[in-house]
Amino acid sequence: MLVMTLEGLYCPLGNFYIDPKGKVQNAVITHAHSDHARKGAAHYYSTTSGVSLLKSRLGKNIVVKAFNYGEKFLINGIQLSFHPAGHILGSAQICIKHNGETWVVSGDYKRQPDPTCEAFEVIKCDVFITEATFGTPNYSWDNNIDNGKKIFEWWLENSRKGLNSLLLAYSLGKTQRILGLLKKYTSRSIYCHASAISLNECYRAEGIELLNTISLNEIPNNKELKGELIISPPSILKSKQIKILGPNLRIAFVSGWMSNSQRFGPLCEQGFVLSDHADWKDLLLTIQQTGAKRIFVQHRGNGTLVKHLKSLGIHAYPCEELFPIDSRQLCLF
Ligand SMILES: [Zn+2]
Ligand SMILES: [Zn+2]
Repeated sequence: MLVMTLEGLYCPLGNFYIDPKGKVQNAVITHAHSDHARKGAAHYYSTTSGVSLLKSRLGKNIVVKAFNYGEKFLINGIQLSFHPAGHILGSAQICIKHNGETWVVSGDYKRQPDPTCEAFEVIKCDVFITEATFGTPNYSWDNNIDNGKKIFEWWLENSRKGLNSLLLAYSLGKTQRILGLLKKYTSRSIYCHASAISLNECYRAEGIELLNTISLNEIPNNKELKGELIISPPSILKSKQIKILGPNLRIAFVSGWMSNSQRFGPLCEQGFVLSDHADWKDLLLTIQQTGAKRIFVQHRGNGTLVKHLKSLGIHAYPCEELFPIDSRQLCLF
């Protein structure tokens, strides 16, 4: 049903790609992160709740057809549907059915609750193509930790000392998740990097409640921030804007990579382990719950997860083994 090509996962029967690179006719998009949604497709297919994010990333003139979660649609006679992936707003797994066989492409996903996006849905399938960003046993999220509370308390402590608190987080997904998690603890406004402001608006337009935000670009030149919380991608550390935040700044990274302490940068005295991807145990749980007979692993496909699944007697392969028909024929002859 699907093969791996230079442009990405491709369905020859339906002539569509999933999260393709380069110029293609039909692009079915799992979510709006830049390593999944790229310019160059003639037609895009997206979830309804993901359209505004997709347009804010790729331009409002892209041609896009939108479908609700669970809604069935056809591309060249092949049936598809989007299902929540729990990764960011509008993120989807893609379910493809043909001749009685069901394939599911997970896209990026997580199983932890997130107030800013639709919760992951398990879909029974024959073939499951899973991501594995954190596909080693070293990565395990503690579900008992309330990260909203932890971040709020860290900010409060810094604030009492008159210090600003800078959280380093991706502009799309992580920033909004933090703004959603903090809502339980405060109604204060949060300063955000300009790149996140329009994305915050996309979330609000979909009815997601976020704390009020102010763009770092809107701070008057002579105004000094004191005791504030700022969320920005790490690029701010190399920009002039870092000066507005004053010399006595507390910095913390918010990422799944934080569970591996070697990844702490020299500037970060603290890190919060908060990921929008499944950890090792949730990857295994999800694979088992789909009931799939064959598993293909995207990202780190040759690594630990494939080996582990094989040791359990599961038919698991790196995604690269979804050979295009032509190259497989070449291999045979
Ligand atoms: Zn992503
Ligand atoms: Zn990704």
